[in-house]
Amino acid sequence: MSLLSNRVLNMSTSATLAMAAKARELRAEGKDIIGLSLGEPDFNTPDFIKEAAKQAIDDNYNSYTPVDGYVELKEAIITKFKRDNNLDYGLQQIVVSTGAKQSLANVAAVMLDKGDEVILPCPYWVSYSDIVKVYEGIPVEVKTSIENDFKLTPEQLEAAITPKTKMIWYSSPCNPSGSVYSKEELRALADVLQNYPNIVVVSDEIYEHINFVGEHASMAQFEDMYDRTVTVNGVSKAFAMTGWRIGYIGAPTDIARACNKMQGQMTSGANCIAQRAVITALNEPPSRVQYMIDEFKVRRELILDLLNTIPGFVTNEPEGAFYVFPNISEYFGKSIKGVKIENASDFSMFLLEHANVATVTGEAFGNPDCIRISYAASQEQIIEAVKRIKEVLA
Ligand code: PMP
Ligand code: GLU
Repeated sequence: MSLLSNRVLNMSTSATLAMAAKARELRAEGKDIIGLSLGEPDFNTPDFIKEAAKQAIDDNYNSYTPVDGYVELKEAIITKFKRDNNLDYGLQQIVVSTGAKQSLANVAAVMLDKGDEVILPCPYWVSYSDIVKVYEGIPVEVKTSIENDFKLTPEQLEAAITPKTKMIWYSSPCNPSGSVYSKEELRALADVLQNYPNIVVVSDEIYEHINFVGEHASMAQFEDMYDRTVTVNGVSKAFAMTGWRIGYIGAPTDIARACNKMQGQMTSGANCIAQRAVITALNEPPSRVQYMIDEFKVRRELILDLLNTIPGFVTNEPEGAFYVFPNISEYFGKSIKGVKIENASDFSMFLLEHANVATVTGEAFGNPDCIRISYAASQEQIIEAVKRIKEVLA
């Protein structure tokens, strides 16, 4: 009998982190692995942010911070929400956490009772489903199609709603599909929700700046949705700060205060030095990090052009984030180099073992026909990786 709880025994390991660990292991064994599995910018944190962190250490920021974050940081977040998203939040509506991942976990913890349903348009970000399950919620996966750029339609939303629906969680720009919901598309989903006033929307906007098509749209911008939308964001992606572990929410006051209460018993709040650095990051206009977005855009064109030369890779055009999510189901049932490919996990593992390229199976994102390829890697790495993939499949 295991000593461990059913809670953890029933939980999946994060596939993105597991693949990154596997790639690291193989590299340590001397294999030349190109890692396109982890969603992590390959840039360094900008110097102006690093300087702020150094200053914070010298200024003796070493004590516990307020559980929901330094007031100056919450003010910077309020400024950011107004400046970038035209959203008005007050101090009581902001909670800073140890990454957007913890922000999401807090929301699940304070919102879900056993059996509550959470609608997850597929493909969804890898951790949504397990976070919901840990808090005894039921993920309701709604399959979207590549033809519709993997976006949820109002009809699909309507059909997925039941009396048990508590929330809908989505990301835009989307990890893993790169899809970006326009204001009109969000409005159409909000129109459906007008008939269901108790459903809360969790709008994960962590990739908002990595958008190649134009305006970012927030669900909370609609007056009739503001009081029941939790806007999740963080600095991991746009500021290349994954390891600093700072995320945040803007939310209705009762939800934010509940997250504060939960966090007060679980972590006491996020790291003090990282919080000080993020004050500096968020007080600067997003144009300070535009060079990274410009580079991601170049890489997107590059990887799409290259992938489209491989037979059996069906891609749509991702409009944001730094992922492509090709459908590779044409390979299912085939044997390549003596390896039978039955599903996306086999395919991804085959690429790792035979092409030395790490990707992530779409199964982890709720779509078993695709794999996720992160192009947060140098152009040379992208060119070499796709060359290897093409050769091994030829
Ligand atoms: N949401 C999405 C859509 C993500 O891709 C990630 C991955 N970093 C997160 C949330 C969590 O980000 P973090 O915890 O690093 O702030
Ligand atoms: N969010 C990133 C990804 O999807 C980082 C890994 C993780 O947090 O799971 O790869």
